[in-house]
Amino acid sequence: MGKILRINMNDLTVKTEELGEYAGLGGRALTSSIIAKEVPPLCHPLGPNNKLVASPGLLTGTTAASSGRCHFGCKSPLTGGIKEGNAGGVVSQKIAHLGYSAIVLEGVPKDDKLRIVYINKDKVEILLADELKGMGNYETVAKLREKYGKVGIISIGPAGEQKLNAASIAVNDMDNRPTRHAARGGQGAVMGSKGLKAIVVDDTGAAGVEIKDKDEFKKWAKIFTDGLLKHPVTGEGLPTYGTAVLINIINEAGGLPTRNFSSGQFEHAANISGEQLTENCKDRGGKETHACSPGCVIRCSNVYNDKDGNYLTSGLEYETIWAFGANCNIDDLDMVARLDRLCDDIGLDTIETGGAIAVAMEGGLLPFGDWDRAIKLLDEDIRNATPIGKIIGSGAVVTGRVFGVTRVPAVKGQNMPAYDPRAIQGIGVTYATSTMGADHTAGYAIATNIMKVGGYVDPLKPEGQVELSRNLQIATAALDSTGLCLFTAFPVLDQPETFEAIYRMLNAQYGLNLTGDDVTELGKNVLKTEKDFNTRAGFTNKDDRLPEFMYQEALAPHNQVFMVKDEELDEFWNF
Ligand code: SF4
Repeated sequence: MGKILRINMNDLTVKTEELGEYAGLGGRALTSSIIAKEVPPLCHPLGPNNKLVASPGLLTGTTAASSGRCHFGCKSPLTGGIKEGNAGGVVSQKIAHLGYSAIVLEGVPKDDKLRIVYINKDKVEILLADELKGMGNYETVAKLREKYGKVGIISIGPAGEQKLNAASIAVNDMDNRPTRHAARGGQGAVMGSKGLKAIVVDDTGAAGVEIKDKDEFKKWAKIFTDGLLKHPVTGEGLPTYGTAVLINIINEAGGLPTRNFSSGQFEHAANISGEQLTENCKDRGGKETHACSPGCVIRCSNVYNDKDGNYLTSGLEYETIWAFGANCNIDDLDMVARLDRLCDDIGLDTIETGGAIAVAMEGGLLPFGDWDRAIKLLDEDIRNATPIGKIIGSGAVVTGRVFGVTRVPAVKGQNMPAYDPRAIQGIGVTYATSTMGADHTAGYAIATNIMKVGGYVDPLKPEGQVELSRNLQIATAALDSTGLCLFTAFPVLDQPETFEAIYRMLNAQYGLNLTGDDVTELGKNVLKTEKDFNTRAGFTNKDDRLPEFMYQEALAPHNQVFMVKDEELDEFWNF
């Protein structure tokens, strides 16, 4: 087990301590436990009492495939509740190699100076970095790489410095671009409130992660890798088309939210599909498959070039393509790619920002489909902190209030991702009940509702959805504690030996005797810890609901509303 590195941005002190009561935890289990125990639930998210925790998962730093996620936790300025979000990239393994289970950022600075933290095996330094003020993530990472060499970098862009609700935390990818983001819930704003532009992590000469039984670990790591490679989703679908493979699938299912959730199908879906993305990548010399972090065998990411073959963006994902594409009625993949690049650079959640722009389109600020104005809203307004930029950067709920829009697709203040609950009822239960607000990754019901992974529950019927979402949310909370990418869940749900490989690897690494039941128990404990924090922050079961219009406006083409009853949603927490 590693140690906890505490960095106080108020008195600029650093201390290292044992895990103590947090022993045995990693990733989301650790971030949520620290936040629930140490952060007053009623504190201001941008004030001195909030903390920002970065934690590798329990398997991060080992040879376990796709185990390089970095988990971030805090009280969210967007939802007011507990938040965990994770990103790929190269930093998490470096933190683990240095022997840290968590980096905890505490306090707010006494001055308005900007700083970076530099960590290597010998020292931790807090350094002035005013020269990085207002700088985009791309330039920030380039400058820090130039100075420090082969390092992992956690950074924020201008949105984080402005403490906007939609601000993300960026992590550099394997090409050293800031394209992997812990995006949801405004965690970049919390980092900004601590006057911290970047954390630079150098693991040169670090001891690495100890494995108690190396042969046993190797055996199960191979079974795990084989399981990922033989499953049709992780071995074929994701590496071939990336996550954008879902555009046509979800559009076909009638659940692709279009023009601010006013229809479930986008007539121009083919133009922004995974198939089109792959063709463009191939034709223009990009990469249609790409690993975002070392040791990922799924390789769902991509490198997207413009028409002239010049690099435009990387990790052009389904959610982003939907947020700026179907949801904003933009049918040009190159324009969507430009918006993605801007979000990565400014440090913005693409889901929240695309959602806010779609709400602003409905509110009359700009017409649906106006990509030119959308680009200006990001590059000129949000980047330069104009009043309208601050409104959009504050998310969909604030934007809806300013423009008098009633169709605001948010739960606990957070904009819904790319699946309409009226056509895919299981994901609606996840949006409603998740401790995170509307978050598809919390319990990815699409797997079973649409992709028939882990069984099948009819997406158009309310029956069975609460149980499905509950099981998925418990499993996800456990998976999020290991550092494994969520996409490993597809083979884990379908193949018993792939699930077994996870706790067998943990046993071999730490000298434990965990069973499958222990993994489930861990997931339950994480959810209950988070729920307890939210309850103390003032949330009740009335917050576990979808917005009113989801119960009143039937969605084409199925012409259905969300049908899971409130009493059934309240059953979610009976475990
Ligand atoms: S599956 Fe995709 S998102 Fe997950 S670690 Fe691999 S490249 Fe990154």
